[in-house]
Amino acid sequence: MPHDDLYAPQSPYETGLKGLCPRCGQGHLFQSFITIAPKCDVCEMEFDFADAGDGPAVFVILIAGFIVLGAALYVEIKYEPPMWVHMAIFLPMVLVVVLGMLRPLKGLLVALQYRNKAEQGRLEK
Ligand SMILES: [Zn+2]
Repeated sequence: MPHDDLYAPQSPYETGLKGLCPRCGQGHLFQSFITIAPKCDVCEMEFDFADAGDGPAVFVILIAGFIVLGAALYVEIKYEPPMWVHMAIFLPMVLVVVLGMLRPLKGLLVALQYRNKAEQGRLEK
């Protein structure tokens, strides 16, 4: 990508988890909750390379499943509460954990994609 050498290298973890531009570390990567902006509002880099695909959803499913199911099993084994208690605790917990992780993980995957120059394979001519 042109002009990449004009910017100091940014940590993909720092910029990605905060939803900032992976090149300049100042512009915003997202234009809405999980929609990637067309380009950075500071350094004007176009984000058309960014395609995390199903990656963030897979990580969110695996990590959130582990956290919420583990907590539900612990509560069930320790306290044996009625089912409505599980529903009252763990349905909102699923929403909070999933929605809380989706955007940072998508930002992280896009930042890692930029850092590692990951893109579609192409045939050389
Ligand atoms: Zn930028």
